[in-house]
Amino acid sequence: MSDANLADDLGGKFQGRLISPDDPDYDEARKIWNGMIDKRPGLIAQCAGTADVVAAVNFARERDLAVAVRGGGHNVSGNAICDDGIAIDLRPMKNVSVDSARRFASAEGGVTWGEYDQATQRHGLASPGGAISSTGIAGLTLGGGFGWLSRSYGLACDNVLSAEVVTAAGEVLTANADENADLFWGIRGGGGNFGVVTRLDFQLQPIGELYSGLTLYPRSDGPAFMRMWATLTAAAPDELSSMAAFLSTPDGVPVVGAFWVYKGTAEEGERVLAPLRAFGSPVHDDIGLKPYTEVQQAFDPGFPAGNRNYWKSCYLSTIDDTCVDTLVDHANRAPSPLCVVGIEHMIGGAVSRVAEDENAFGSRDAEYNLLILGTNDDPGLDDAIRDWARSFWTAAQPFSTGGVYVNYMDNDESGRIGDAYRASHYARLVDLKKKYDPDNLFRLNQNIAPTG
Ligand code: FAD
Repeated sequence: MSDANLADDLGGKFQGRLISPDDPDYDEARKIWNGMIDKRPGLIAQCAGTADVVAAVNFARERDLAVAVRGGGHNVSGNAICDDGIAIDLRPMKNVSVDSARRFASAEGGVTWGEYDQATQRHGLASPGGAISSTGIAGLTLGGGFGWLSRSYGLACDNVLSAEVVTAAGEVLTANADENADLFWGIRGGGGNFGVVTRLDFQLQPIGELYSGLTLYPRSDGPAFMRMWATLTAAAPDELSSMAAFLSTPDGVPVVGAFWVYKGTAEEGERVLAPLRAFGSPVHDDIGLKPYTEVQQAFDPGFPAGNRNYWKSCYLSTIDDTCVDTLVDHANRAPSPLCVVGIEHMIGGAVSRVAEDENAFGSRDAEYNLLILGTNDDPGLDDAIRDWARSFWTAAQPFSTGGVYVNYMDNDESGRIGDAYRASHYARLVDLKKKYDPDNLFRLNQNIAPTG
């Protein structure tokens, strides 16, 4: 069937916008955050609401089309878009409503964290989300979701109270502790495997200013800085979250440092950060009290859409001296100044106190995550970026828990899906897949196949 016919056939049942390859906006509409992904769907269905999602899902199932589902379009693997088939694009679904008295917010599936934070901060409230404001609430939460508030309040998925899900059969289901509790368990960690999530209701917490900022040092301080950072974070209270990083300044100078977020007063924050204050001579230090939305947008300029990205990651079980030496050695070999190595301390704390079986998320015992961001703006460097990220990841394996965060997996890692879940959780997820999507309509994701 031609692309024009796809749009014509769905058109009568669809309120939103249908974009075919001959549409002048097609090339813009098929772009996602990772500029390395260049896919051409047969049709982009920009949904105005749940009824459009139902129409698009039924249409795809009846015609056996490949289905991509797009929330914020941030996932590095590029599964938010497909070749041929239909891309179900939730970006027009932007409604966020806040019940400040009962402290919960309801947000549609196309909302980003920046939009969610703006709506909830009007009431002085927030939910744990990610560290970049343009990331979608849906993709991040369905895979788990950690950010600056997670050590205090848990993962994004731990804060979901209820969801609306359009299943592969085109049914609209509510999933929460009382209704379709099995589905509710699975969508909190199991990704987009079980349907299109059109609404998420989150618990809210009172959040005002945070004591936060970035400290940077010359790259030659790398080994000493990382040892100090590992010692400081190992003893940190839940209120302190941090990400150490090897990066380059905008003019290409390699530096090492960390972003710090303390949920408390400046005085308490300084007490916790005393080992940092005793360390070296920073070339940059902007720690201070900042509005929550400013903290949530602090990383945005460093991670623009359109760069070419290849990622590898793993949870770390230790950051001992040998691990530090390995990190420094490989970080210093990055083939592009746009590459970043992040060591995240945004988990542990409240994340580790949620019961293992509360939802499908896989790795509550890890405290640190290594994120190797192979990034460049020159296609000629793609191979070098991939080789660097892979050899770095291999060298880091002696320090890894063996686990991986499903939301950081790239498109060549489907063989690692079992590493993202506990074995008992994975078996339960396969059973859920058989029940809610037996024909694997939703397979363009970190796929949990119904066959196991
Ligand atoms: P999309 O690419 O739109 O979606 C990713 C996948 O999720 C889709 O393929 C689909 O399978 C599924 N999906 C999306 N929306 C829906 C829906 N409504 N219903 C059903 N399935 C859906 N993660 C963290 O936890 N913390 C961070 O701080 C963090 N920082 C990041 C920073 C950057 C720069 C980037 C690129 C990613 C970051 N991530 C972080 C990873 C992020 O959680 C994942 O990339 C996530 O999948 C993005 O969600 P999205 O909706 O924007 O992505």
